[in-house]
Amino acid sequence: LDYEEGKGWHNPVIEPYQPMLVDPASAILHYGQGIFEGMKAYKTNDGLVQLFRPRDNFLRLNRSAERLCIPQIDVDFVLECLNKLIELESEWIPTKEGTSLYIRPYIVATESFLGVRPSHKYKLFIILSPVGAYYPEGLKPVKILVEDKFVRAVAGGLGEAKTMANYAASLLAAQEAKSKGFSQVLWLDGVNLKYVEEVGTMNIFFKINGEIITPALNGSILPGITRDSVIKVLKSWGLTVNERKISIDEVVEAFDNELLEEAFGTGTAAVISPVGILQYKDKKMELKDFESDSIAHKLYDFITKLQYGKENDTFDWIKS
Ligand code: PMP
Repeated sequence: LDYEEGKGWHNPVIEPYQPMLVDPASAILHYGQGIFEGMKAYKTNDGLVQLFRPRDNFLRLNRSAERLCIPQIDVDFVLECLNKLIELESEWIPTKEGTSLYIRPYIVATESFLGVRPSHKYKLFIILSPVGAYYPEGLKPVKILVEDKFVRAVAGGLGEAKTMANYAASLLAAQEAKSKGFSQVLWLDGVNLKYVEEVGTMNIFFKINGEIITPALNGSILPGITRDSVIKVLKSWGLTVNERKISIDEVVEAFDNELLEEAFGTGTAAVISPVGILQYKDKKMELKDFESDSIAHKLYDFITKLQYGKENDTFDWIKS
């Protein structure tokens, strides 16, 4: 889809994946005016292709668009385009449970000029790729390093938007964490390095002395679709999630008092990632062996069953 001032969004086309010509002065190449989404389609045993909350991804794309001065999209129309595209490619969607079709919609500023101002031209792309199971052998706890030097976002910044620049800002921290044997970093707030925000590509939940906690959305945390699903599923099970500020000191204190029962990340890629090790400065917090009666495990089972059509869709999240 193309956008031009005066014309709006126009020219929807489906074409084979191929390299494209880009003007070297395109705004996206210089000032990062771009946004994206990540979502998945799942194939059921009956061969049905199911999307999980796709409208919510496009609504989030529109919220990111607003922050980045990118024109709003017509969510219904783009959903229609996506469905056409998936229909054409459905034979490539793997059927093995755990595998899926990754969907990457993105919008970039394409006007050629070198001044710093919002572009007058954009392109919206949707590319697809089959992906293997995130956990080929069942849920595996991850090792996470609490980042105490770099920050990802600050209030009033871009943290709440899914924009390329946020990921550029995260690369060095993630690289350093990986070199120390961790899979991702846990970001703290960008002002005091005190309050927990989110993981590299996931939101975070803790269970402390029976209380389920996730950091409240504050403008610098990405409002994850999985985060929202987890809150709603837990509520339907009669459990409460407290969305509130939680400091890293509170997490450490809970660990020291043996009250940190669980920690897990939530995101489209893994659905649920139980945290096995959380390291903050010199403090290594080893969480109990992951047990099948944990909240993380139950949530993973429930949400993946929904996605593969093995659970009643009482939430109306599945679109096929
Ligand atoms: N935070 C960040 C920074 C992310 O990149 C993601 C992945 N989109 C998430 C959280 C989780 O969001 P979602 O559940 O919508 O995948």
